[in-house]
Amino acid sequence: MNRRSFMRSAILFPIAVNRMDATALNNLINPAEKTDRMPVLFVGHGSPMYAIEENEFVHSWRKLGETMPRPKAILCVSAHWETNGTFVTAMSKPPTIHDFGGFPRQLFEVQYPAPGSPELANETKKSITSTSVGLDQKWGLDHGAWSVIRNIYPKADIPVIEMSLDYNMSPRAHYDLGSELSSLRNKGVLIIGSGNIVHNLRMVAWDKINEPEFGFDWAIQANNKVKQLIENDNHKDLINYSSLGREVQLAIPTPEHYLPLLYTLALKETSDSVTFFNDKAVMGSLAMTSVKIG
Ligand code: ZN
Repeated sequence: MNRRSFMRSAILFPIAVNRMDATALNNLINPAEKTDRMPVLFVGHGSPMYAIEENEFVHSWRKLGETMPRPKAILCVSAHWETNGTFVTAMSKPPTIHDFGGFPRQLFEVQYPAPGSPELANETKKSITSTSVGLDQKWGLDHGAWSVIRNIYPKADIPVIEMSLDYNMSPRAHYDLGSELSSLRNKGVLIIGSGNIVHNLRMVAWDKINEPEFGFDWAIQANNKVKQLIENDNHKDLINYSSLGREVQLAIPTPEHYLPLLYTLALKETSDSVTFFNDKAVMGSLAMTSVKIG
């Protein structure tokens, strides 16, 4: 994105949209209120630059915002917030965190001024009984959340909270924790896992980073294997991903970009359909493959 189009975006997404009316916040999470079940998303976020670039992935994100039922609030499990214990952001105005280095100034200038939701943070804490969830006042929205959500909901008028990944927990425990969020789906909350199914930064093909699509054979095979298991509802093998062979081990050298997928899958109910989108490998060793459930 050049400077001029960035400026245009800045004008399109004014800071003033930070406001949310107090009644709307009060009405956000009424335990007695039931709405239709919201879909659940796993979104491959890829390069932070996608937050401000025009490409087919961003176009899909925008389309989601235009076609999904409008949520009352968003809970995002981001690959980029790992903690000792599980936390949710509980501040009313979460700051935009630029948790990366070496990118152009335009990216550091992006603000996503969506309100937080102390109410949803408390509701999430109450919904989870297997562990004690901490209410965080220090984090905010990292790029795993805002690079995607600012394209889905550019007006920043829907409250967003983040939930962290406890780095002490097993994949099975993350999956089980995800299932405890199911009641939020019926209360108008859009749950988004943000990561990448294939994410090996050490093996990035630097000579291909500007190509719209390029994956090493192992990356494409790993992506296909994971997709097949998702289609077959074989969550057991997806939880035990370290036993899925060499390709998947290369695709998931560290767990944090994969674990948000387990939160998403744990929320799938029998009647939910599964749709893949942005199903492409980029830079050799990343897959943007994303999943919509319901
Ligand atoms: Zn990432």
